[in-house]
Amino acid sequence: AKHAGRDTYRFFTAQMNAAVLARLELETALRAALENGEFVLHYQPKARLGDGRVAGLEALLRWQRPGHGLVAPGEFIALLEETGLIVRVGSWVIATACRQIRRWLDSPVGAVALSINVSGRQFVEGALDAEVLAALVENAVPAELLELELTETSLMANTARTIDCLRNLKRQHVKISIDDFGTGYSSLAYLRRFPIDTLKIDIAFIRDVTSNPDAAAIVRAIISMAHSLNLNVVAEGVETPAQLSYLRRHHCDQIQGYYFSRPLDAERVGELLLQGRRL
Ligand code: C2E
Ligand code: CA
Ligand code: CA
Ligand code: CA
Repeated sequence: AKHAGRDTYRFFTAQMNAAVLARLELETALRAALENGEFVLHYQPKARLGDGRVAGLEALLRWQRPGHGLVAPGEFIALLEETGLIVRVGSWVIATACRQIRRWLDSPVGAVALSINVSGRQFVEGALDAEVLAALVENAVPAELLELELTETSLMANTARTIDCLRNLKRQHVKISIDDFGTGYSSLAYLRRFPIDTLKIDIAFIRDVTSNPDAAAIVRAIISMAHSLNLNVVAEGVETPAQLSYLRRHHCDQIQGYYFSRPLDAERVGELLLQGRRL
């Protein structure tokens, strides 16, 4: 028995070492990724329920990792957050998004509203307002074409600094939305304190909206609250006609999800926009 115990211990140690090594390897590869230009943005359209037209796009980070293909953020965002690398990657996202808006402005595609995901650490560790405004100016992009998507958790990270930062951006007409709404802190007080334009209903509620009465009730409550506060409301992760018609019936403003389009690279989303595709 003693022997077996020692083997088990050795087994777990070997496993732990493997996990630590894998993490270290990933961290090293992520540091190199930024310098080697391995990150790319893909873009997912949001469609208006009113006229079926594209209302704007969300930029989603992808990693073209050598030998691994295109890697989605689920595999690496947590580590970028933990190591603080998200601040530098976030700066790259801001600059790349503004350059892309400019490219579309200079092409037949024209003006496209684009939202980017922002980590709470970018508020705490960087001058996010100054950085965003500089990127807009550098690319001569109208501020109202850019939207920042923040989670409830990231808003709670550093309240005073964050409010100040968001107010500065808002004054220049940058838009602000709350991502994954309904999953974070259930304090609704910040809806009044932060200058918010849009709520995005979390994908988990939409997944269950046609099968679970509680999820459906939450979706209806969020839509009605958003409208009472004069906010725009977007449903994420819409995959089926049944979900779409439920959201239509309950006056949701916009939808995003595989039903309309998956995230696409810049070239393919440009084609979708040029075709004037509708819901
Ligand atoms: P998110 O901001 O909530 O983005 C929506 C996610 O849902 C995306 O996953 C998108 O591809 C996926 N999605 C869209 N439609 C559907 C659908 O119909 N069904 C399903 N099952 N999924 C759908 P993705 O691209 O893997 O991104 C995951 C998360 O990574 C994002 O969640 C966001 O929190 C984070 N992320 C992505 N890009 C960035 C970035 O540039 N910066 C930061 N800080 N975080 C990012
Ligand atoms: Ca988002
Ligand atoms: Ca979301
Ligand atoms: Ca999410």
